Amino acid sequence: MPRLLLMVRCRACGEEFDTGIRIDARNFTRATLAANYHTCPACGQRGTYHKTDYLAREEPALARRDAPGSPA
Ligand SMILES: [Zn+2]
Repeated sequence: MPRLLLMVRCRACGEEFDTGIRIDARNFTRATLAANYHTCPACGQRGTYHKTDYLAREEPALARRDAPGSPA
């Protein structure tokens, strides 16, 4: 099951930033994610984002704790 990280694009400055949400693909499909507050690290604007605003990216394998070959 691929694990997704959810990004959003700031409405104020257009910067894409990581919301810190990690969810697996199946749960994302089911999740409502109706209204979540996120603060843009670039401009500090706080906004409400909805499921359709999220840009789901596959979490890079290297970021996983169980990734083979990761430094000790
Ligand atoms: Zn911003």
